[in-house]
Amino acid sequence: MNFSDFEFHPTIAAAINKCGYTTPTAIQQQAMPHLLGGHDLLGLAQTGTGKTAAFVLPALQKLQQGPRKKVRAMILTPTRELAEQVHENIQQMAAGTGLRSCSIYGGVSKYGQIKKMQSGVEIIVACPGRLLDHLNGRSIDLSNVEMLILDEADQMFDKGFLPDIRRILKHVPQKRQSMVFSATMPVEIRHLAEEVLSEPVTVQVDHEKPAATISHVLYKVSQGRKTALLKNILQQKHMPTTLVFTRTKHKAKNLAKQLEKFGFRATSLQGNLSQNQRKLAMEGFKSGKFNILVATDIAARGIDVSGISHVVNYDVPDTVEAYTHRTGRTGRAEKTGEAFTFMTSDDGKIIQVVERTLGKKIRRETVADFDCGNDGSSSHRRSKAAGSPKGARRKPASARNKKNATRQRASSCDFGLKRVA
Ligand code: AMP
Repeated sequence: MNFSDFEFHPTIAAAINKCGYTTPTAIQQQAMPHLLGGHDLLGLAQTGTGKTAAFVLPALQKLQQGPRKKVRAMILTPTRELAEQVHENIQQMAAGTGLRSCSIYGGVSKYGQIKKMQSGVEIIVACPGRLLDHLNGRSIDLSNVEMLILDEADQMFDKGFLPDIRRILKHVPQKRQSMVFSATMPVEIRHLAEEVLSEPVTVQVDHEKPAATISHVLYKVSQGRKTALLKNILQQKHMPTTLVFTRTKHKAKNLAKQLEKFGFRATSLQGNLSQNQRKLAMEGFKSGKFNILVATDIAARGIDVSGISHVVNYDVPDTVEAYTHRTGRTGRAEKTGEAFTFMTSDDGKIIQVVERTLGKKIRRETVADFDCGNDGSSSHRRSKAAGSPKGARRKPASARNKKNATRQRASSCDFGLKRVA
């Protein structure tokens, strides 16, 4: 299935393209036809499945028609962070449509939110508490809402928001399209869904588990030390055929060039290549001329090379589906494979979701005598406290007392991972 099958408005289709989405995720494939058809929907899906686009894209399609500068779609979320994230997603996907979104949550001034709403928005993404404040102060009008979306409903229940949601619902027209998304379905959410939804379609997606033949390893590393870590691992381990994934085309190209300079037989596969260059890269990788291929997700879609021994997530993928897809390039046909993931302090959330899907913690490994850097955490503070000039690089580990170096490495590699380590 392709996004073009949904016949989105050309502006929305262009935005989808710009977001880099080529194939709809499972929840998108299942939910979007019903939502575009105007049905209510109960979606059982976790974060990382692409559920935001699953409800945002059909909402944008509907909002393209009809009045502007009235709140016509409302998304309720349990946390400020999620509200902000959904709002940002909407801004990306609504680019060029003229449709505007506003996020509403506590901890920031109400005045800015009121001003934004007064300027005219069609979509609001709100946390229940602050939204009720606005309703009580009559600074928001929900009488034109045509679409209501409750995101992460089980989290809303956990946070005790159900009474607030019921109060909010009194301000929204009865005649509307509604959606409830939840990762789990406790009885309270089922009751809420019955209250909110009318003859809903239920769709459920579980994260597809990576193959059991793959062993997974995590390396904690700062962004700036990733290339050095990769070089180190490639030198130390036996990695006959390695597929490396980066987030962007430029990174794929530059990383392959750097690896070549280090003396590795590396090439890249990314969207900026001509068809002929792609063919040469693929053929070179298949024939063994290159034993390292650095690719982006999109370019790697069609890769079917048997005998890939290692997959390296130089950049952590956005979704569990992408993790499964990437790591599935190795360990094929009952062969065993290894998947190495480079994890920075920003990647904790998605790794937690991957681990939940795998049903186990991913093994953490460190490379002996390697400084994995830090993202402005412990060792930076240490060097400042020791009077080092700002930005000064640490001496190589080999230059320090070995026992001490090991202790320092262990702590500097521990950034941001308290919950998952
Ligand atoms: P969500 O589950 O909505 O939080 O989405 C998780 C991530 O998947 C986000 O970074 C989205 O940008 C990304 N995403 C959503 N849909 C797609 C798609 N069809 N292809 C690739 N990435 C996607």
